Amino acid sequence: MTYTDAHCHLGTRQYDTNRNEIIQRMLVNEVSKVIMISCSKHDLLECLKLRKQNPGFKLAMSIHPQDLENHDEKRLIDLWNGIVEVKPEMIGEIGLDYYSHPHTKEYQLKFFRAQLEMAEKLSLPVNIHSRKASKDTLDILREYPVKGLIHSYSGSIEMAELFIKAGYYISFGASILFPNARRPREVVSKIPLNKLLIETDSPYQSPVKDHVHEPMDVVNIYEEISRIRGIEINELKQCVEDNFDRLFSHQ
Ligand SMILES: [Zn+2]
Repeated sequence: MTYTDAHCHLGTRQYDTNRNEIIQRMLVNEVSKVIMISCSKHDLLECLKLRKQNPGFKLAMSIHPQDLENHDEKRLIDLWNGIVEVKPEMIGEIGLDYYSHPHTKEYQLKFFRAQLEMAEKLSLPVNIHSRKASKDTLDILREYPVKGLIHSYSGSIEMAELFIKAGYYISFGASILFPNARRPREVVSKIPLNKLLIETDSPYQSPVKDHVHEPMDVVNIYEEISRIRGIEINELKQCVEDNFDRLFSHQ
């Protein structure tokens, strides 16, 4: 049995000086199945090395919705060629971010659909980023026979149920660690256990000021969810690992 991190950026430049130590700490703490998000050439090269050495490390690649200032459609052709070449296990993160990048909305919609089409063609699951865009995200996901997860979920329980109905897992991050984060804590208490995933989004979304977030910190999120749900940590681990594995099985 292992801890899993359903969304982290292990290839990031921020880890260039201590990536090996971070991997060591993960493995010592039994975090041995992760989804590595790669949205740049630098990150991709690092993630490819890690995937070779660690069979539980899955690679997700995409053009990030916050990275569409350059919306030349040739980028989609380059992405497709890259996908065919390195064969990632997932497409992501992809989606819509109306919060931080409302000015690129038109291109976000176009690139989101194009990357969902790639996932559909290759029968790959997707890792979804959605900020202040739940309704559009859901409407678009419903059009594609693709499965995946909603990363760093912070919406309502009603919306979570609609995403689940559309074939998606709901992934929770460090936001549930804040005692005043009433809504995510309430949602995580109600979500069906067989649809629950857990992630850090490291190096981003650190719950502690001045601490660089890393995948081993996912253990703290597991412990808090086991308290909120009132179940043993081992039961939670087994359940989330099964969900993680199911995401990559062709059932
Ligand atoms: Zn991310």
